[in-house]
Amino acid sequence: MTLSDDLEKFKKICAKCKGHCCIRKTGKEVIPISNKEAKAILKLYPNKKIELLNFNTDSRMHCFYVPKKGCPFFGSKGCILPEDIQPLNCLIYPLAFSIKKDKIEFFIDKSNCPYIKEIVQLKDWRDYAMNQTKEEIKNWTVEEKNFFSELTKITKKTNSKIKS
Ligand code: SF4
Ligand code: SF4
Repeated sequence: MTLSDDLEKFKKICAKCKGHCCIRKTGKEVIPISNKEAKAILKLYPNKKIELLNFNTDSRMHCFYVPKKGCPFFGSKGCILPEDIQPLNCLIYPLAFSIKKDKIEFFIDKSNCPYIKEIVQLKDWRDYAMNQTKEEIKNWTVEEKNFFSELTKITKKTNSKIKS
């Protein structure tokens, strides 16, 4: 099994699911996105509502809300964003991560993915997603890392920690 086999399988699984993770039942979840991601998305969709949220003066990050009817970028054929500007949090899902004092911890988020058992078998995909995340986070500002670390403190975890 190679990474390209895993990526292919991952795409096929998501194609049959059609974006279960793009609809959040609570209607209150936010998807945090980096400055870089917000800039690229707003360039294509200047009228979409992206907010700069903060927990305190040292933590701020762009985010968008996912209402019950689905993410603002969720179309009839799935995500309308080109893959190269999809938020990191979406690209790696159902892999998720938290940041504690600059240390990244990875989890499998079991809450929204009906194909979780198949996806967790894709070890090469998972390693690739973890490396992508580590690389991407190097470009985050301190405020973004702080925001994410505050956010993950209040996020209820039904997750399984995995070794990175
Ligand atoms: S940005 Fe795209 S992938 Fe992410 S939740 Fe919205 S529709 Fe889904
Ligand atoms: S990650 Fe899971 S929930 Fe999201 S589209 Fe793929 S199979 Fe569906």
